[in-house]
Amino acid sequence: MNYNTLMQKKLPKRIYSLLKSIGEIGHQMSYNAFIVGGFVRDLILGRSNLDVDIVIEGDGINFASRFAEVKKGTVKCHERFGTAVITFPDGFKIDVATARTEIYVHPGALPSVQFGSINDDLKRRDFTINAMAISLNNDKCGELVDVFKGLSDLQEHIVRIIHDLSFRDDPTRIFRAIRFEQRYNFRMDKHTEELLNLAVKDNFLNTITKQRLRNEILLILNEDNASRPLNRMEQFDLIRYIHPKISLSNRMLNLIYKIGEMRSFPTLPFLKANEKLDYVLIKIMVLLNELSKADAHDVSERLALSKKYSEAIKSAIVKLPDALRTISKETVTPSKIYEVLKGLPLETLIFGIFKSDEITIYKIMLYLTVLRDTKPIITGKDLKELGYSEGPIYNEILSMVFYAQLDEKIGSKQEAIEFIKLKRKDQ
Ligand code: ATP
Ligand code: MG
Repeated sequence: MNYNTLMQKKLPKRIYSLLKSIGEIGHQMSYNAFIVGGFVRDLILGRSNLDVDIVIEGDGINFASRFAEVKKGTVKCHERFGTAVITFPDGFKIDVATARTEIYVHPGALPSVQFGSINDDLKRRDFTINAMAISLNNDKCGELVDVFKGLSDLQEHIVRIIHDLSFRDDPTRIFRAIRFEQRYNFRMDKHTEELLNLAVKDNFLNTITKQRLRNEILLILNEDNASRPLNRMEQFDLIRYIHPKISLSNRMLNLIYKIGEMRSFPTLPFLKANEKLDYVLIKIMVLLNELSKADAHDVSERLALSKKYSEAIKSAIVKLPDALRTISKETVTPSKIYEVLKGLPLETLIFGIFKSDEITIYKIMLYLTVLRDTKPIITGKDLKELGYSEGPIYNEILSMVFYAQLDEKIGSKQEAIEFIKLKRKDQ
């Protein structure tokens, strides 16, 4: 079968014509150009994937520079790896690599690289379904390069490693196998599963850096339905790589599923136009919910999580429970809700929604949609005009008036001024 027709039919026009141009310029430079990896897999599966990974038999950097010149893009090269990223004027990016072979100096290390053919390049990939390429050069456009029978595995829903030392060479493939298997509802073949089990038992994952471990775990959590790969991680005793004290429950998996579903809502009414939720972060909060502050801190350390993540996780574990307890009281005032929720990151608040009963959810919503956007009726300038001399008293008065405003005790500037005068008299 020739895949040119399928590409023409399935791909957005601009991607298809981009691939055609790559083939043309490859031809002019006497290089063979291929589209490879996840793009090919998803094209055949009929799934959208706009990650264009190009492999060049020849000098990939030279090709990328020429292509960027013709298409008025910019190019960023990594000489050491023979790779380049081209950014087009509209912001769209593609990856270009030089076909290469890799040698692993020791398990878990980043490979050292040498030039090679497309077959060599496919050989260093993780699974057969990810190791297919399609030729782009004019004369051979659409020809599938499938040395490892990836097409047949794709049709039979199988995730299969390419050689027996695969998990040792790169233990991140342990997580990748689970991720692809669960995303597409495939199965690992028996041999792959056995080797994966052995790799886990031999603790190959201890050889990878914190950063690589973090990336893989975040990629798993970024899956639409992350509860599936998490469940599978549990079967392979891999949850301990997040933290040994996490005990995965159905309730947690259910929540993680729901958070994934939330991402597909077109709009969330309590978010502002410029606000974007980090769903992965909320899913982490679910996973770490039952850990102590110290254990949660430990997770941030061992996965080298960003400051934003560590802080948000801390707020979810340390501050959120108290805040929810306070606002769930029947007598809580809007100003109190404001006071306890105001320092919490958005993701912590959304996590709070998932943990709360209906009335408490309503209060969090009140904060998100009304309280946090309320503008104070009076400012320091007004106080000055009223004759107060500047000092710490300003903050005191302003927050007192603001809280009265949140509680709807005052509704206008006039009322605010009366309120201040009354309070001053009381003191
Ligand atoms: P996704 O849809 O999750 O992006 P993908 O298959 O495109 O999946 P990437 O991580 O974007 O995965 O990598 C692109 C390609 O690079 C893969 O299809 C695979 O051929 C190769 N690859 C990526 N990571 C590895 C790895 N750890 N070992 C071997 N090959 C890999
Ligand atoms: Mg990809």
